Amino acid sequence: MIRRLPCRPRPQLGESLAGYATRLASVNCWTTAKGLAKDMCCKPFATLLRNSDKLRQELDSLTGHSDELNVCDTLHPLLLRDNERSFKYITLLKPRICPDCIIEHGIHYAVWQIAGLGYCEKHQYKLIQRCPACLHDLEWNEALLENRCDKCGEKFRGSSKDYLIIYTGYVL
Ligand SMILES: [Zn+2]
Ligand SMILES: [Zn+2]
Repeated sequence: MIRRLPCRPRPQLGESLAGYATRLASVNCWTTAKGLAKDMCCKPFATLLRNSDKLRQELDSLTGHSDELNVCDTLHPLLLRDNERSFKYITLLKPRICPDCIIEHGIHYAVWQIAGLGYCEKHQYKLIQRCPACLHDLEWNEALLENRCDKCGEKFRGSSKDYLIIYTGYVL
């Protein structure tokens, strides 16, 4: 069954599938990816999140952007494989963000979900996974892509540079 959404922006290189689902939801007037999945896919978003092939299929059916969907969510290509190695990684289900990247690009990057990374290479910030003001976990909703908390309205900013010092110290 063809179920195309009226607004179908293209997925971007490195964008997470869940972030893309959230962006699609937002431009088509749902406030959450959960609402979009419920109404258009008849499946809980939580179930789709656990099966990226299924989520990709659903997004393909909603947008027709098959080619782009195959390259988006490739996470950090160097972390996936090189000529001699390939390995699996653990990804988180709840979103994490770098506020400055969200402001600059307006998309959620798949690399942020890799457990064990936890910082933005470009801005050298610790990624945010809960609102610093009300401590609610971030969710896959339009507020996430607007860089604010949907519970208390707090605008997110890059977190403490202390983390950078600790991190650099650790690496050296
Ligand atoms: Zn960043
Ligand atoms: Zn909050």
